[in-house]
Amino acid sequence: MKISEILQTNKLTVSFEIFPPKQDSAYDAVIGCADELVRFDPDFMSVTYGAGGGTSANTVKIAAHIKDRGITSIAHLTCLSSTTSEVHRIIGELKDRNIENILALRGDRPKDPDFVPPGDYRYASDLIRDIRESGNFCVGGACYPEGHPESGHKDRDLDNLKLKVDAGCSFLTTQMFFDNNMLYSFLYRAQSKGINVPVLAGIMPITNGAQLKRTIELSNAYLPPKFLALVDRFGDSPEAMKQAGIAYATEQIIDLITNGVRGIHIYAMNKPDVVQKIVSNISDIIKAAK
Ligand code: FAD
Repeated sequence: MKISEILQTNKLTVSFEIFPPKQDSAYDAVIGCADELVRFDPDFMSVTYGAGGGTSANTVKIAAHIKDRGITSIAHLTCLSSTTSEVHRIIGELKDRNIENILALRGDRPKDPDFVPPGDYRYASDLIRDIRESGNFCVGGACYPEGHPESGHKDRDLDNLKLKVDAGCSFLTTQMFFDNNMLYSFLYRAQSKGINVPVLAGIMPITNGAQLKRTIELSNAYLPPKFLALVDRFGDSPEAMKQAGIAYATEQIIDLITNGVRGIHIYAMNKPDVVQKIVSNISDIIKAAK
């Protein structure tokens, strides 16, 4: 099923994201994790492409596995460091497996200042246009409530986001954020630019100190004092930090749903136990909002 149809029909969607294994030896473990997440009956599940430590090789396979388990899946695809034929090969594999949804991303720019993209793609919007011309896919894109780290100018970033949506994006998923006001302000500004597609709120449960460090490096997200106090108090006690991180994510989600946000996308980080606790914390809230 296309995610655009799910978003049109359901009053609230709850979705999960997983990443493929770094090494093939861990493939079965990731499949086991996907199977556990499927049991919580998400509206759909996404599989990253070479992000979060995983490689890109197994993205299509894992997305197909999830679909075969009866849950709609979406495969991420990046473009900046790929040749056009590599990208078309993946699009062909997705077609062969009847996967109808792609999250089209640029991917991070390599550190080499002399880097020249090997393919036809400079921005995610180039990929989105290409996917649209290559088949009947539902295409999503990424957005950044606090601005994309490279852009340095929130308003210009939103103008670029509008170009991306106009290229053929049916929905957007946000970068993680830890202060819901960042999202509310972003939604308001996006609407004033004429960006009217559904926006799914990306929630990252932080359950240990190392993850927090990596999160800050990756996203540059603002960390509210309440969150910092929690890390300060429990950061050295793994079990307590995990519980506090789950509680923080739970609270964020409840506030989002209360304020009318209709799409919650949980960065599951291949930790079904964490997702299980969050989902069970809000099970009646989900039922009431659906
Ligand atoms: P773009 O939309 O192309 O934007 C990148 C930058 O270029 C922005 O600063 C933007 O303002 C600017 N820009 C865009 N269009 C134009 C234009 N026409 N003219 C001038 N400037 C422009 N990475 C992975 O490697 N694998 C994944 O699976 C993955 N999944 C992700 C999922 C989500 C929900 C998010 C939020 C990010 C994900 N990423 C992933 C990270 C992503 O690849 C990086 O954040 C990357 O730096 C930007 O990708 P983008 O698609 O947002 O790029």
